[in-house]
Amino acid sequence: IVKALSGYYYVVPEQMEAADQQETADAMIQCRARGIFKKRGESPLVGDRVIYVLTENGEGMVDAILPRDSELIRPPVANIDLAVLVFSVTEPVLNLQLLDKFLVHIEHAGLPAVLCLSKSDLAEEGEETQEAKDIMEAVSRIYEPIGYSIYTTSSRQQHGIEALKHRLQGHLAVFAGQSGVGKSSLLNALVPGLALETSEISSRLGRGRHTTRHVELIQVGEGFVADTPGFSQLDFVELGIEELSSCFREMKELAPQCKFRGCTHIHEPECKVLEALESGRIEPSRYEHYKLFVAEMKEKKRRY
Ligand code: GDP
Ligand code: ZN
Repeated sequence: IVKALSGYYYVVPEQMEAADQQETADAMIQCRARGIFKKRGESPLVGDRVIYVLTENGEGMVDAILPRDSELIRPPVANIDLAVLVFSVTEPVLNLQLLDKFLVHIEHAGLPAVLCLSKSDLAEEGEETQEAKDIMEAVSRIYEPIGYSIYTTSSRQQHGIEALKHRLQGHLAVFAGQSGVGKSSLLNALVPGLALETSEISSRLGRGRHTTRHVELIQVGEGFVADTPGFSQLDFVELGIEELSSCFREMKELAPQCKFRGCTHIHEPECKVLEALESGRIEPSRYEHYKLFVAEMKEKKRRY
């Protein structure tokens, strides 16, 4: 299911997946879902793999939903198996604290993640060239060693687009990142002929791009990307403080080895995380953000 709208589900037949974009739009089958789903309190989600039968009027009827590998609530999408975290090197300038916050949420959701550094052309020319270059270097120095692949792209110069496209093949990915970092522009660069509104256009028309849109999957070769505001409202309500260290890849293995159960890795003796920080195996900026998030979560808990 690539789209759900007013009680209809739009299904791309499996053998059509590799077909080119234009054909796909025509080949989508408009389906209703059997009443039985509603009775059971289930409903098909965008991203679901389903079995459908064709009905006489040329429409389809969804008969069964295949077991889901994953299910996100916000945005409501099933079977996402990759998060592409998009951050622009500048405009807006890349904020490592926000990047770590997104990563915590993605790790908590159990999704594999890659980083995309967008607008790389702005590191070549512009006023903040040196700053942008320094940020790009810092990001590879910090995140590659802990296992995040980095894709550097410029939608404007069509740079790095093929490599990212290659990574998406066979996946159902979600693009996460602040608004304005260039997610729509990236999708437009990835899919010839796609013309999603980018923010210049929506601000000219005086409305946010996502105000009226539903989650929809966009086909990128043999992969799909959920076009959605995604994880835009980030807060820690669903996350417990004791879960936080497991959302930092470099702390995950160490945390269970600390002397004290329930170690917060902030002041306790014989803390493996603090030892790793001292010996330089944990990046100070990552640890600082960990501490900050703990403080933020405590504050939130106090208020509720
Ligand atoms: P979204 O909100 O994340 O979907 O971001 P948009 O795709 O709407 O882009 C936000 C702004 O960044 C727009 O003004 C785009 O023209 C600009 N932009 C997007 N990609 C690039 C790029 O590769 N290079 C440059 N210089 N600007 C870009
Ligand atoms: Zn500890």
